[in-house]
Amino acid sequence: MIEVVDLTKSYGPVQALRGVSFHIARGEIVGLLGPNGAGKTTTMKILTGYLQPDSGTVEVDGLDVLTHARQVQARIGYLPETAPLYPELTVQAYLRLMADMRHIPPEEQLDRLSEAIYATMLADHLTRPIGQLSKGYRQRVGLAQAILHRPKLLILDEPTLGLDPTQIVEVRRLIRRLADQSTILFSTHILSEVEAVCDRAIIIMNGQIRADARMSELAATSNAVLVLQNETAGVDQALQALNGVRDVESISVGDAYPAYRILGERDVNLCPAIYDLARRQDWPVRELRQDRRTLETVFNQLATAT
Ligand code: ATP
Repeated sequence: MIEVVDLTKSYGPVQALRGVSFHIARGEIVGLLGPNGAGKTTTMKILTGYLQPDSGTVEVDGLDVLTHARQVQARIGYLPETAPLYPELTVQAYLRLMADMRHIPPEEQLDRLSEAIYATMLADHLTRPIGQLSKGYRQRVGLAQAILHRPKLLILDEPTLGLDPTQIVEVRRLIRRLADQSTILFSTHILSEVEAVCDRAIIIMNGQIRADARMSELAATSNAVLVLQNETAGVDQALQALNGVRDVESISVGDAYPAYRILGERDVNLCPAIYDLARRQDWPVRELRQDRRTLETVFNQLATAT
């Protein structure tokens, strides 16, 4: 659905994007995660045709954004970081205006408006001026306008920014529902948001992609955790001697059982070898698993890596 190749963009001396490439398949929900100033908004503006890159290409649904801007924009629903809502218009009047601007034929407008209003649960607020709505409801109006034309692709720039916890939960739920019909790329700097909503995360830092993986892959490590029923002689040394093991640490798992974290070389899964060893040695195994890391750990490790 999206094919981004080697995007670069500078604002004067500031290099906002330094060779960004990624691919998003139809139906995915992908989080573009990065700290402030990482290049998320710049990437999204280029994807939606609102900003030209210095170099690189973007294809949406097989169409080049630069040469087919109009067709691409017809396929995209975009919620910018600060949605250009008109405070004096009522919700209803604003959505009608947006339907006209999107060239939705008059005979289809009622259906499309009802669909968007239902999806964003705005029915009770249609006659209120947008300027009088809470931030959460304004965000819903922004989402409603983004989905009016049933876009194949939704691009949402920090959709939960500034919302209270209840509104955040609602907007996340809404995003998941919208994924039934559209591919979704949304940006955030909140780690738990990506964990709550996405299939996959693309982590961008300082204008470069630093990680791009499914959530389960990001969390996986090449370390294993072994918990035994009781103290057993020689475990540490036997584990150290296994192929691919860098080190073995005794750890506490919050109860009385002896436990070890076995640090593996890069990209190895030690569990099968440890399982074999434990069977041969007849160790009283209580638990053996691959060690996981939180997205926060991944993020911090990437941020501090050179
Ligand atoms: P945030 O989470 O704070 O919105 P972001 O990841 O969306 O950040 P961008 O807004 O894309 O990041 O900005 C990337 C870099 O480009 C930053 O250093 C920013 O200061 C700079 N930048 C963005 N827009 C402009 C502009 N119009 N003029 C000059 N510099 C800009």
